[in-house]
Amino acid sequence: MDDGRWVEVADGVLARRYAELDLTVGLVLGAEHALVVDTRGDARQGAELAAAVRGVTALPLVVAVTHAHFDHCFGTAALRPAAVYAHPRCTAAIRATAAAQRAQWAAYYRRRGDHATADALAGTDPPLPDHAAPATLDLGGRTVVLHHLGAGHTDHDVVVQTGDVVFAGDLVEQGAPPDLGDAVVAAWPGTLDALLALAPTIVVPGHGEPVGPAFVAAQRAELAEVAALHAAVAAGELDVATARRRSPYPDLGWPAPQS
Ligand SMILES: [Zn+2]
Repeated sequence: MDDGRWVEVADGVLARRYAELDLTVGLVLGAEHALVVDTRGDARQGAELAAAVRGVTALPLVVAVTHAHFDHCFGTAALRPAAVYAHPRCTAAIRATAAAQRAQWAAYYRRRGDHATADALAGTDPPLPDHAAPATLDLGGRTVVLHHLGAGHTDHDVVVQTGDVVFAGDLVEQGAPPDLGDAVVAAWPGTLDALLALAPTIVVPGHGEPVGPAFVAAQRAELAEVAALHAAVAAGELDVATARRRSPYPDLGWPAPQS
């Protein structure tokens, strides 16, 4: 499981890449504090991340959680006593869904024969975020802005901006299609427009390698196609099977309409 590797995406701004779920988390270094973006998927993985962070910096830590999916926030315990920022709906979603996510994903790992991860996940009760985003954080000589730019991958995605780097959480996914399971598809393209309006040169996705704005624009166009198909199904103009066939992501489940 100790497959993490740091990638420096800008001066004092690092991404940490994992083979497991192709996950990407972040670390932003100030002069007085360091910010960790997302905490991995269980207490054991969080401890690995905390140790890796301590290999880079001894500064007091702050945590930003991009959204409530387990792989981004179940590892938080090892990073305490850091303040943990998230959108209030993220905090509510962790509270409401932690048990179900734990059961679903522990079963997933058991089916794959990864009992160590299943056991770690089954034993993880993720701490809830205790500070609200949006927020602007002064890390000492470096300002980080935690934005909520609208719904998309979830209804509570937070993106983390520092200079011309944006950590996008799962609003952007490289190497695999975006996950639509809890998505607000109709709002997602507009949220990516707002992300692109931040004028990043580097966008760090929640899964996959760091990308540039052109990649985000292309994924935004695909998501707009999905949103249009979704609207056509909701309006009774198209059946789900046809919509799925025409989708840029035909193998993905079709999300339930959201009001
Ligand atoms: Zn997610």
